[in-house]
Amino acid sequence: MGAGNEQSTKVDNMAELQNTAAIQIPAPLRINDARLKPIAEKIMVGERLSFDDGVALYQSHDLLATGWLANHVREKRHGNVCYFNVNRHINPTNVCLAHCRLCAFGRSPDQPGAYTFGLEEIWQRAAEGVAEGATEFHIVGGLHPDLPFEFYLDMIRGLKQRFPQVHLKAFTMVEVGFYSRLSKLSIRDTLLAMKEAGVDSLPGGGAEIFNPRVRKIICDHKTSGRMWLDIARTAHELGLRSNATMLYGQIETLEERVEHLLLLRELQDQTHGFVTFIPLAFHPENTALSHLPKPTGFDDLKNIAVSRLLLDNFDHIKAYWIMLTPAIAQIALRFGANDIDGTVVEEKIYHDAGATTPQGVTRAELERLIREAGRVPVERDTLYRPVDRVKNPLPPTRRPTTLVTLNS
Ligand code: SF4
Repeated sequence: MGAGNEQSTKVDNMAELQNTAAIQIPAPLRINDARLKPIAEKIMVGERLSFDDGVALYQSHDLLATGWLANHVREKRHGNVCYFNVNRHINPTNVCLAHCRLCAFGRSPDQPGAYTFGLEEIWQRAAEGVAEGATEFHIVGGLHPDLPFEFYLDMIRGLKQRFPQVHLKAFTMVEVGFYSRLSKLSIRDTLLAMKEAGVDSLPGGGAEIFNPRVRKIICDHKTSGRMWLDIARTAHELGLRSNATMLYGQIETLEERVEHLLLLRELQDQTHGFVTFIPLAFHPENTALSHLPKPTGFDDLKNIAVSRLLLDNFDHIKAYWIMLTPAIAQIALRFGANDIDGTVVEEKIYHDAGATTPQGVTRAELERLIREAGRVPVERDTLYRPVDRVKNPLPPTRRPTTLVTLNS
């Protein structure tokens, strides 16, 4: 898309925003489940929801009322805007010693399909992302038993040196915990070394479900839930912001979902360091949990809505279309989500786990999804500042891409 098109798109967006701001008329709320009435009253006066409220919302089949309430909160915060971004995912290696039962991506070093990129290859992939207009590198990988911490620091230094304008969102709390053990540095010093090398923020993966009962079954050998939260807290204290996730639809109970969300809310009260919450639908195929059914569309929308309602101190809720399908992600924009992630050209992790979504959508297709849901697409950077493509036009012959995401 050339600069001229970008300019007219921007003007269109502004006109849309002005028009929709003037004509918003709230649709009536109809509640069929009596248990939701006191919860709705709390939401309408901005009162914080309790653990029991969260469980009642999850138990209720009144999805439309729950969605109406979540949409109300979403529109109060963001109006009609729906954010997306243009980033490049880089997974340095899929070699991982954790062997989580939830994972279809990690490999033993000698297993077919195992790979580890060299630094030059990583920087080359990053250069392709920059040529496609990426404003962010999203970097996560397996817990490789033989790569030293210095390898990752060199990778970050090299990226920062070559592409200083690109935000480096790198290494989950799980990876940080692993590097700390590897390097024999404290968590704080590990994070400081990452920050000094050029890491700007951290992704939200690896949170799964914090409850130890669940972790023991789905990811026994990786960072505990308590540790994940402690690492996030330390990162935030050092000025590194992060995202947060929850992997739903595996063996967790509804109560364990609510517990997970409230632990995140509690930490956010203390640090204000989380940027976005991303509910992740479990994809069981090719994992050790392949006997489990996939989450349904009903559950997907419920998780978006309940997250929006419980996480009253999170600015953003993302509907990650690769996991939800474009169709469900589009509907989620009316059930509490205000972000739909980005265009994607080659996605490996969730497709390894049986995702049947396409490998990518064009920017035009993504914008159509957003506009058809009655929202206004706004390209953002990692920290949700609008990207000005008039000043920074996309290369005319390339389309923006996102490569690979990982739940480590
Ligand atoms: S989920 Fe992450 S930590 Fe677990 S096996 Fe997969 S890559 Fe390794």
